[in-house]
Amino acid sequence: MTVTQETITRDRLYIGGEWVAPTTERTFTAVSASTEEVIGHAPEAAEGDVDRAVTAARAAFDDPQGWSRWDVGRRADTIERFADAVEKRAGQTARLVSNQNGMPISMSEAVEGGFPPVALRYYAGLIRDGIEERREGVFGRATRVRQEPVGVVAAIVPWNFPQALAFTKIAPALAAGCTMVIKPSPETVLDSYLIAEAAEEAGIPAGVLNFVPAGREVGAYLVSHPGVDKVGFTGSTAAGRSIGEACGRLLRPVTLELGGKSAAIVLDDADLASHTADFVNATLQNQGQTCYVSTRILAPRSRYGEVVDWITETVAALKVGDALDPVTEIGPLASERQRERVEGYIAKGIAEGGRLTTGGKRPAGLDRGYFVEPTVFADVSNTDTIAREEIFGPVLAVIPYETDAEAIALANDNEFGLGGSVWSRDTERAIEVARHVDSGGLGINYYSHDIGSPFGGVKASGLGREQGPEGLAAYQVSKTIYNVP
Ligand code: NAD
Repeated sequence: MTVTQETITRDRLYIGGEWVAPTTERTFTAVSASTEEVIGHAPEAAEGDVDRAVTAARAAFDDPQGWSRWDVGRRADTIERFADAVEKRAGQTARLVSNQNGMPISMSEAVEGGFPPVALRYYAGLIRDGIEERREGVFGRATRVRQEPVGVVAAIVPWNFPQALAFTKIAPALAAGCTMVIKPSPETVLDSYLIAEAAEEAGIPAGVLNFVPAGREVGAYLVSHPGVDKVGFTGSTAAGRSIGEACGRLLRPVTLELGGKSAAIVLDDADLASHTADFVNATLQNQGQTCYVSTRILAPRSRYGEVVDWITETVAALKVGDALDPVTEIGPLASERQRERVEGYIAKGIAEGGRLTTGGKRPAGLDRGYFVEPTVFADVSNTDTIAREEIFGPVLAVIPYETDAEAIALANDNEFGLGGSVWSRDTERAIEVARHVDSGGLGINYYSHDIGSPFGGVKASGLGREQGPEGLAAYQVSKTIYNVP
């Protein structure tokens, strides 16, 4: 099929409700992950732009008649208008994301196009419902516990789900009454403009949302900016540690959604063939460029050969191709740098004695684009590099175990604790296994998050939670008023 390319040039930044000229001439060049063709340009924000954006967000937050002081009904109405404006752009957004980072279009339509309006409407509904502020006092006098917006939020977003991960911050922060400076990743700058356009169209007041696409140095500058009250970060564990250190020194609240190396625990009664699509999604979603995918497959020794064969055949049958082709199941990696990293891990997996059962190379016939075949290693030890480190590519490691207790121990023997999945015909047994895994969340014969329930990690996978009412609380600070009627 013919896939049409879009070429877009942006020369402004959205700051203080206006499209302003950037302070420097530096630009990002956006490249199609599938074809390596240039698809657009956008300015790279510098420290001076961050200063302007934080000043605008600060002024909007401190305005006595402004967003943070609006009653919740007015804020919820505006957020719902924003949801409509975002939804109108969903198709364009999905294409832009797929073009830039290689996400299969079928997925970006559902997630990058589909999730943001749902998230906005969910949080608008949550604040409309409200919560009871009055509490009977244990010592006799009643209190009122108010939930106030935490202030100006710096939101830093990675390239793998640039829209969904922006909106897991934007939706609750706006609902709480915060104002924001959002820093999109260099790899996915273009789609962030559609958020700004939708905000403008929906009547989000000037200064409430500001965008400063930039790299890590400018990101670090934003994190430590004196005008910022809270940091919401999604990205690598290394960057998260550095941001956490900066926020620790400043006593600045921070939510950190970081890396993962989750386990799919296949119990000895599992019926994988009945869950093929969910298994592929839980382990290889977005060609492995997803923080929560279960890339360590723990398989019972009693069925090891059969499980390895099934995974190998399933993975080998996946359709690899252009991200914009609706039949594509595995698109390219987001960048040349990302492909080099993944190929380095494949070489290491072979060198450390893993048995390659499928993949491992660049796919034949796809000479352009950052493609790597979906790859399975069998006979991997949980101590091997490919079982310990986050690869962020389509590489699965199948590790044998003897007993359920050993499977749990292997799952927990890792620095991360973000996602995970348990595969079994017996749901209660699977839930019991899931209870013992150190992780922020697991799925049974499935994995995906749900906007209504908290998502986040333990150990090196992060601090705090996004989504659900917990995700709103992350942008609020409580104030107790004692001795009220
Ligand atoms: P990255 O950490 O290199 O970059 C993420 C974002 O942070 C980018 O916008 C980058 O410019 C910025 N950044 C980097 N260092 C910074 C610093 N010191 N101060 C301020 N900003 C900084 O990560 P990436 O390669 O873009 O994304 C992939 C990583 O993100 C993976 O490790 C993945 O697991 C993780 N991730 C986690 C979640 C989650 O919810 N837990 C979701 C998606 C991705």
